[in-house]
Amino acid sequence: MSNQIALHEGLFTWPSSKPQLLGSRCTQCAEAAFPAQPDCRSCGSRDTTIVELGDHGILWTWTIQTFMPKQPYHSDETPETFRPYGVGYVEMPGGVRVEARLQANSPDQLEIGMLMKLDIIPFRTDENGDQKMTFSFSSAGKA
Ligand SMILES: [Zn+2]
Repeated sequence: MSNQIALHEGLFTWPSSKPQLLGSRCTQCAEAAFPAQPDCRSCGSRDTTIVELGDHGILWTWTIQTFMPKQPYHSDETPETFRPYGVGYVEMPGGVRVEARLQANSPDQLEIGMLMKLDIIPFRTDENGDQKMTFSFSSAGKA
């Protein structure tokens, strides 16, 4: 059995049967940020706390990535196995917009305003055989 390890610490609750995206919220003005920030972008306060941003959001905008990203992007994909994928901004319930990979890879599968759900998916396998996990969004039906 390989372990499933978060690709980056602190982006989502992991391991979890119901993962939540993690961000920060300013305790002074309530501005939320993703990824979590030690300083508030809105009021400059250093008084922020880590909060769960939820596991659903609304698709704010999107595009289709049709070519392999440059390094240091590093997955198990090769130019031969690469398949186009969606990239979008998903607006979470607190209002914060999160840039994320989307499971959909065709324009007819994506529509601004649609409800999206958080998925934790394998990104690549490391030298120990562990799966590095990252977050992504897929359609959850009409909002
Ligand atoms: Zn603030």
